[in-house]
Amino acid sequence: MISDLSKVRNIGISAHIDSGKTTLTERVLFYTKRIHAIHDVKGKDGVGAKMDSMDLERERGITIQSAATHCTWGQYHINIIDTPGHVDFTIEVERSLRVLDGAILVLCAVAGVQSQSLTVDRQMRRYGVPRIAFVNKCDRAGANPLRARDQLREKLNLNPCLLQLPIGLEDKFEGIVDLIKMKSFRFEGANGEKIIEGAIPADMQAEATKCREEMLDTLSMFSDDLTEAMLEEKVTEELICKAVRSATINLQIVPVMMGSAYKNKAVQLLLDGVGKFLPCPTDVTNQAVDLEKDEAKVTLDSDPDKPLVMLAFKLEDGRFGQLSYLRVYQGTIAKGREITNTRTGKRHKVGRLVRMHSDEMEDIDSAGAGDICAMFGVDCNSGDTFTDGTTSVAMTSMHVPEPVIALTVSPKDNKAQVNMSKALKRFTKEDPTFRVSSDHETGETIIHGMGELHLDVYIERMKREYSAEVITSPPRVAYRETITRRVDFSYTHKKQTGGSGQYGKVAGYLEPGEAPYEFVDQIVGGSIPREYVPSCDKGFQSMLAKGLVIQAPVTGVRVVVNDGAAHSVDSSDIAFQEAARGAWREAYPKAHPQILEPLMKVAIEGPAEFQGGVVGILMQRRGIIIGTTESDGFCRVEAEVPLAEMFGFSTVLRSATQGKAEFTMEFSRYTPTPGAISEELIKKHREELAKKAK
Ligand code: GDP
Repeated sequence: MISDLSKVRNIGISAHIDSGKTTLTERVLFYTKRIHAIHDVKGKDGVGAKMDSMDLERERGITIQSAATHCTWGQYHINIIDTPGHVDFTIEVERSLRVLDGAILVLCAVAGVQSQSLTVDRQMRRYGVPRIAFVNKCDRAGANPLRARDQLREKLNLNPCLLQLPIGLEDKFEGIVDLIKMKSFRFEGANGEKIIEGAIPADMQAEATKCREEMLDTLSMFSDDLTEAMLEEKVTEELICKAVRSATINLQIVPVMMGSAYKNKAVQLLLDGVGKFLPCPTDVTNQAVDLEKDEAKVTLDSDPDKPLVMLAFKLEDGRFGQLSYLRVYQGTIAKGREITNTRTGKRHKVGRLVRMHSDEMEDIDSAGAGDICAMFGVDCNSGDTFTDGTTSVAMTSMHVPEPVIALTVSPKDNKAQVNMSKALKRFTKEDPTFRVSSDHETGETIIHGMGELHLDVYIERMKREYSAEVITSPPRVAYRETITRRVDFSYTHKKQTGGSGQYGKVAGYLEPGEAPYEFVDQIVGGSIPREYVPSCDKGFQSMLAKGLVIQAPVTGVRVVVNDGAAHSVDSSDIAFQEAARGAWREAYPKAHPQILEPLMKVAIEGPAEFQGGVVGILMQRRGIIIGTTESDGFCRVEAEVPLAEMFGFSTVLRSATQGKAEFTMEFSRYTPTPGAISEELIKKHREELAKKAK
């Protein structure tokens, strides 16, 4: 077990696709001696970088799944939590962000801050993750790390603090000037493993001095010690590092470092920076909720001797069963001990505990607060909390958005049928935004998710990882229905069939509500006997799955029951459920029901010359422009667009911008569909019903 928490770093590496995250991670593993050879990402040797273990990822060049890898650098234990960058996978990104204490934000020295950098940065900001910016690809034509630094300020509104300068750029990129040590560093040997420290090149002296002063000025804003030392001209390396560290952890600055992962330059200095400037587990406050105290917030203590609290943040199918990655927040987990899953209340015995290195593992006996490890043989979902059973806290429940898109999948043959259900079971465990349901009438399996690509990826994974070939329907938007007016109801359900009959009467009103559904009992004088009140609730609830407009799920309804009647013999649970359903059927159409559609937040980035065109195609799609910004010949357009209008958008965007713009999209909220569109939806729905009836 790692005992000195001040030497632990749990970090993520986040980036826009293609900035070199995979390459950088691989170099980190090489320099920390976790792997013994460097392979090129998507390289000719067909091996590929270590962290990308899925074929699909390699092919698409995006990292979809997060994995945690442990390595050591000097005296530091570094856990690297791989954070997927694509917005369609926000749940995975957010879960990974929660378990890390700090991050490296990789930027491309040529492209600078790109669309995903913005998304990733926004998420890090939300979770208060301190970060170091690493400007990669300094060897590429057009590299300009200082421009990337400026964009951190202009586009991300961060306070960048330049710690290094490049020695040469593009194909003349040789190494780094360290503004803290005022030394030069060059990297030689086949893999850049030989670090040559030297004096600053004469022609860079003046620039380095100027940049060092700027760095000190920035830092002095946040450190009195440093300000004092500057006045007395007693600035030391140690004082500067201390100031950088505390300002980074307090989110006052973002240190900017640079290099070239591909050309093996300066990655070691970045690793030094991770140790020196990013927080250790005790520098960060972690909060949980107390399930027995109405989810009141409690602060956890990174103390290995306190009651155990840990979070399963990622699952994998291993050769030995389910492998669950865990972040220990408090207490200690040890082999052979019993743990409780707070969601299910089930007790489990910890069989095997390991530390992962991408796909290799090392057995360990225990892991303490602040550490990351993985266990075998305990069935759980991603996002579950485990404790030792003596505490009632759970890691804060995360906001899980409702899926906005759905399609049906049918297996091609019998073998695919079995494999498909295995695959779907696994995916729903890993990803709460991915759901599976079946159509009551047709029996077809429906998968639900956050966007086209989200579902595409799972369909691909079914094929590749589970050899389940499936046929899919075109994706459908997940509409909702709601009511807009208060309507009174009074309904009697009466049936006289020979012996015992059925009787139940409910009265009250429906009205628009804040919650998806709320049932309010205002019955006085026992007009409906106590035991049948839940039956009314159940009856109303059974109507929510299919609204009466287009059979979309109903949301935002408050049902108040304030009167009714019962019969001493004929009243029953079933009778009151039926009465509630009857009341609903009568009242709902009068409450001016409305169709709601998912609205997406769309951001498009590309050369400024296309701004007009981009705005045009968004407007054609019922988009509302929220903002446009332009700098350095690049523009960014943000808009809210109904999901229904976004199908096939990438193709349209590509042809409108010669493939030079890209877009990201995430769910924003549900909003009423305009009248004409609603009418169309209703018409389409009726046609479908008629077709089914034939
Ligand atoms: P990711 O999508 O962020 O994981 O990026 P990759 O690591 O897959 O890199 C994308 C491409 O950029 C690959 O072809 C890499 O070889 C290349 N690349 C990565 N780092 C550098 C670098 O420092 N310099 C140059 N010139 N190319 C790089």
